[in-house]
Amino acid sequence: MKPVEAAIAELAASIAALAADAQAIRSATGAAGEGTVLLVDDDPVARMMTAAALARRGWRVIEADSATSALQLFEREQPQVIALDAVMPERDGFATCELLRQLPGGVHVPVVMLTSLEDEQSVVRAYDVGASDFFVKAPGRWMLLSQRLRYLVRASRVRAELARSRADLLRVQRTDALTKLPNRRRFQEIFGAELQRAHERGSRTGLLLLGVNRFRLINDSLGVGAGDQLLLQISRRLADAFRGEGDADRSRQWGCDSDDVDPATRPPGPCMARVGGHEFACMVPDLVYEDDLERLARQAFEAFEQPFWVGGNELFATASIGAVVSPSDGRRVVPLLARADLAMRTVEEVGGNGFRRYAERMNTTRAAHWKLESDLHRAIGLRQLRLLYQPKIDVATGAIVGAEALIRWQRDGELVSPAAFIPAAEDSGLIVPITEWVLTEACRQLGVWNRAGLPPIPLSVNISGRHLQRGTLTVPVRDCLNAYPIAPGQLELEITETALMRNLDDVLPQLRALKALGVSLSIDDFGTGYSSLAYLKRLPIDILKIDRAFVGELETSRESTALVGAIVSMGHGLDLDVVAEGVETPEQMRCLAQRGCRLMQGYLFSHPVTPDRFADMLAQGSRSLWRADAPECSTEGTR
Ligand code: C2E
Ligand code: MG
Ligand code: MG
Repeated sequence: MKPVEAAIAELAASIAALAADAQAIRSATGAAGEGTVLLVDDDPVARMMTAAALARRGWRVIEADSATSALQLFEREQPQVIALDAVMPERDGFATCELLRQLPGGVHVPVVMLTSLEDEQSVVRAYDVGASDFFVKAPGRWMLLSQRLRYLVRASRVRAELARSRADLLRVQRTDALTKLPNRRRFQEIFGAELQRAHERGSRTGLLLLGVNRFRLINDSLGVGAGDQLLLQISRRLADAFRGEGDADRSRQWGCDSDDVDPATRPPGPCMARVGGHEFACMVPDLVYEDDLERLARQAFEAFEQPFWVGGNELFATASIGAVVSPSDGRRVVPLLARADLAMRTVEEVGGNGFRRYAERMNTTRAAHWKLESDLHRAIGLRQLRLLYQPKIDVATGAIVGAEALIRWQRDGELVSPAAFIPAAEDSGLIVPITEWVLTEACRQLGVWNRAGLPPIPLSVNISGRHLQRGTLTVPVRDCLNAYPIAPGQLELEITETALMRNLDDVLPQLRALKALGVSLSIDDFGTGYSSLAYLKRLPIDILKIDRAFVGELETSRESTALVGAIVSMGHGLDLDVVAEGVETPEQMRCLAQRGCRLMQGYLFSHPVTPDRFADMLAQGSRSLWRADAPECSTEGTR
């Protein structure tokens, strides 16, 4: 045999052996230990040798002889790595690599360019078209090629894993852990992208911001776990409400179920998020009618109609909703959210459970509120708070038998009434230091009067329901009783009926603890809170103060007259003192006295007065004018 022929024969034999070997390996393992490699080479001999060598080393090899078949195979088989011959007729490896990179899944697949020569130009070109690496083909280097491929596959796996972890992390950072809704951060991204899109298309975007009313109270009194449960239930009901349950939009997709922020690919429809502790936002893209926002708000309110069950308790919650529309209320995310928040707080300030669209004037009202709050902060330090005292009269004797301390705020020369600042103090938490100041000042003053030898009357102090909820009242009360020369029974605490009713089970232990200190407890504004007799019996109270609204109607409403009579008998039946407040006319006094109520407070006797003036009145003793020995009170011509 000629040497060339011999060489060819030898080569053919070794190829055949290799191919057989490879086949044997393939069928023996039945799987590709290393993964699948797409081998692209137009030279059948080179391809076969490379394939066989790789198969021997555990690769599943799929082969293509041209760019076209390579692209088809890639799409069908999605190999882990591609070995691509640089030099091919028609389309060479460089062009093929560029096309591969554009296919789905082709961006990240590692591609090794197989070159014959290690010329710099080919190497640079290989990297330019997006190849991951290059390899100089030569017989006997198969092990090296296999290792190179293996390394590339491993590196690409690590990269993919990293990308996945990063995506997971991003998702976690942007998802609310409790409700699994987008959190504020993500909502801002979604909202921002939507606003941009709306701007380009000239469409409008609505935003509802919903706050759960009195949530802090629920959290404080039932605990954080219960608060979380409530929020979760609310979020589920709201998701249904905003999704369009019960209307034609039922099939509408949920605008932020996917991870996508891009409005072009994100499903259309409203998108809900939890944007604060007890605040949910709902973005409404492509808003056509502004009424739609109100309709959505109504659906949200319906979600609050049924009670929630939290830790075995039945709870009713309400919500306040503020709304803005872009672009009329703004074009940027942060100001729009702030305006929706302002609208929502405006609803809260008037008692909650309502809907308001943002209006420019809300800014001034809110600014005044902030100013009030910050001024109030300083009021204690600046000694701007004062107490006035209103006497309580026993109309059987005409004597002062007690007094109520009523707070005033001397703000820039003007005397501000508590109705104007106590709600702000409650909202801001300032009510706690204010109540402590009132308690201390009232007890100090009482001590002064006691020392001066004035009759040791009881003095009542108003306690905010919010303060009671915080459960921190016994300590300052005990401190005051210890610090000043007063008998515990001289201190009365007035708590409004509505504040008590709100969370009786939680405040009851505290009321008992206060009672144990020896102070008296009084229910203020009684008659407005729908208390039942059974409920009154459970309370460790001493005094009922009939709300002045009923007293004011004594001469005009038969119903109020009857009610006042009933309250007096019920109170006495429970062995409680009954005080009527807001008594302004002799007729009211007589009418009350006739129904057995002899303790009264009101302008008829005295407005709230300064401590000095009160001391004078107390020193003067009883007045005949304040006695109710007058003829029967008439309720004729009522209503
Ligand atoms: P309240 O405890 O029911 O106090 C009675 C209110 O009725 C007082 O108003 C008093 O000035 C007013 N009043 C007394 N007699 C008459 C009358 O004949 N006719 C009418 N129309 N009103 C009369 P004020 O001082 O403005 O206090 C209003 C409310 O502010 C109080 O209602 C109480 O709930 C709250 N408050 C007052 N002082 C304090 C305080 O120190 N702490 C707390 N937490 N709340 C306070
Ligand atoms: Mg009172
Ligand atoms: Mg009252």
